[in-house]
Amino acid sequence: MTNAKPVEILCPACGQESLLKRTSRYDGFTRIGENMSCASCGHVFADEASVPFKTKKTLAGFDRKDVPAAPRVFRQNENARLCRYCENYVVNPFVQRCSRLKKEVEATDTCEHFKPKPEPTAPAKPAPPKPVL
Ligand SMILES: [Zn+2]
Repeated sequence: MTNAKPVEILCPACGQESLLKRTSRYDGFTRIGENMSCASCGHVFADEASVPFKTKKTLAGFDRKDVPAAPRVFRQNENARLCRYCENYVVNPFVQRCSRLKKEVEATDTCEHFKPKPEPTAPAKPAPPKPVL
């Protein structure tokens, strides 16, 4: 069994989308080649080159253009003034607040009082407890 996968063809004889049927051709006990024929009408193709393989436009993994670019949520300059990057941005499990305006804010809010955090420190979120192995 060498042909696990059916090969689709467009048969010129019957005009159908069909499958290529391969049968081994023997000379005595020596395999000398394959007979290739249309599974639908039995039309025999002379050789591999004359088989009208049905070309596939999209082969998974072959067309890299299909891979979408990673979405960019924020442009760089928009990031700059977001509350989440502000020194006054305070987050706790229940609410996000601006310590300057004393009000609730969203991480994606922008603010004219924006003041960048002095330096990137450890993530604001506490690390999840490590599972005990
Ligand atoms: Zn045919």
